[in-house]
Amino acid sequence: MEKNALPSLENYLGKDLPDELTVNLKNLAKTIHSKQPLPFQIFIEAVEQAPIAISITDKKAKILYVNTEFSRVTGYQAEEVTNENESILSDKSTPRNVYYDLWRTISKKKIWHGQLINRHKLGRRYLADLTITPMLNADGEVSHYIGMHRDLTDVYQAEQQVKNQKQLIESVTNLLPIAMAVLDEYDQVVLDNHLYKALVSDLDKKEPALYFLQLLREEMGELWQECKDHLQGFSQREFRVERKTKSARWFSCSGSWFSEAATQADTFFSQESKRYLILTLTDITKQRKQLEELHLQSLKLMMTEDVRVRSIRETLLGAMHQIQLPMNQIRAAEQILQMKQDEQHNSLLQILQQIQQSGQQAIATMQNCIPSLAPTSMLPLNLNLLLHEVLLLSDVRIQSYAIEVDWRPQQQLPSVLGSENKLRILFKQLIDNAIDAMLKQGTEPMRLTIATACDEEWIYACVADTGPGIAPDKRSKVFEPFYTTRQDSHQAGMGLVMVKEIIDQHQGLIEIDNQYKQGCRFKISFPYFKN
Ligand code: FAD
Repeated sequence: MEKNALPSLENYLGKDLPDELTVNLKNLAKTIHSKQPLPFQIFIEAVEQAPIAISITDKKAKILYVNTEFSRVTGYQAEEVTNENESILSDKSTPRNVYYDLWRTISKKKIWHGQLINRHKLGRRYLADLTITPMLNADGEVSHYIGMHRDLTDVYQAEQQVKNQKQLIESVTNLLPIAMAVLDEYDQVVLDNHLYKALVSDLDKKEPALYFLQLLREEMGELWQECKDHLQGFSQREFRVERKTKSARWFSCSGSWFSEAATQADTFFSQESKRYLILTLTDITKQRKQLEELHLQSLKLMMTEDVRVRSIRETLLGAMHQIQLPMNQIRAAEQILQMKQDEQHNSLLQILQQIQQSGQQAIATMQNCIPSLAPTSMLPLNLNLLLHEVLLLSDVRIQSYAIEVDWRPQQQLPSVLGSENKLRILFKQLIDNAIDAMLKQGTEPMRLTIATACDEEWIYACVADTGPGIAPDKRSKVFEPFYTTRQDSHQAGMGLVMVKEIIDQHQGLIEIDNQYKQGCRFKISFPYFKN
């Protein structure tokens, strides 16, 4: 037959095909022809040239017709398989239940679709994607079956390779000693590893990656978008993560972007790509703790020195204050005697003047001996970090007296512009006072509450205890020099004076909360640092 000349229907429906099939096909040809103006031969040729292996069988799967593609896929020419059963293609590696399912379905006049292993004429196995459609006669009974199949081996291999690669990537990422997540352009996690999954429950954050993304965007500002646009990475950005009930943890974040060709059908011609971020989170809490320990040691030394200097200052100021009182009385007596201009008391006046002089000298000597405090610079500070440090400095006392600590830091607190050292001394003083007050009262439980908060203008810190509290009439006096509520105290009552002085130096405010009845609560506010 010439390639371009359409064969007559009779050529196909000739002596080779069984009568019943010929009748069926002729009827089908009439039906199609009545609906379609196209000659029936075109349909015949379409089947013959279709790029899918097509076979027509009788009810028992005896092959009556195969097209060209069938020969190409199976290796069998039409004359080699005609009158053979389709099982000529079967391979033992196909489970029996596949055939049972196939036959159960097509026997019920339903279409079956599935995959099975076929054997090529040369013995090679291939994966066949097979669809079998029952052909019904005029009585509605199955007269023949049409089988259509494709060799799926290459597709299957490619799919398996993708699966294997995915599994390999997952295994490798799961073995990584760091948490890792891959995020798409909408900040959705599309891939993560075991350590990242563990963080979800550990950090009390719904999606840890989103939490770190927010911190990174805030910290990096415009640099974030720049890095993203140029597919440049960032590395080792460290963040402290507060947790509600457990101790804080530190993470070092690194990331790099990569782009991947889009896979949606509508991007087939446009060659679009998608951008992904690989975010890695390394837990550096241990290293940070070691650094913190060292830092704490040096802080302790610094604070001890500071306390020594302050206690010398306190003692000297106290002594000067003590001397100043009788000196004032002597001065008054001297003025009275001078007004009398009585010669009889001249010698007494001289003695008083000498006492005055030596007194003034003593005060001047003491004044010269007052050690000065080390100067400090003003820096943007995170109150959470500072308070956490001060709590650690007081840890020995807190632990030994079994004091409960209720630590409530506000996440993402803006900075305060201040002197690190002075603010540390301030809070240490308040915490020490709180512990002293609770020990004195002996209330159970002894609870120290430290909290931070902020609004658009101010940053707040509060230190509360469950001690005896300060009586309302004494609340304004506690910030006066040498005032102490402690009867048995050897201290000069300068602690809160110093606290107030430091607060003033930071343009802050301090008050004792009148609403708090369980003990004493100091509320401190500092202006927000805006750079
Ligand atoms: P078989 O003994 O042939 O069949 C296994 C089981 O199937 C039997 O135990 C029986 O329960 C059931 N069964 C078999 N014949 C019938 C029947 N006439 N009526 C009801 N139940 C029956 N198989 C392939 O492996 N590859 C193919 O590409 C393929 N294409 C097919 C295309 C068509 C149109 C049809 C109708 C069948 C096709 N088959 C194909 C199925 C094939 O006929 C065999 O059933 C299958 O290959 C298993 O062969 P077997 O010799 O191992 O077992």
